[in-house]
Amino acid sequence: MPEFVSITCEECGDEFRAYPDANAAERGFCSPACSLANAD
Ligand SMILES: [Zn+2]
Repeated sequence: MPEFVSITCEECGDEFRAYPDANAAERGFCSPACSLANAD
C-alpha cells in the first residue's frame, strides 16, 4: 500500500497529506488554487 507523506504547502503554509508521487507532493501546494496563486 502506498504511504501518504505530510507536506507543508508553500503558498498558504497548511499541512496536507498526499501520495509521494502525486503532483501535489511534487509541487508542494495543497490545492490548485495555491498552485495558481504561486504561479506568477
Ligand atoms: Zn495551500
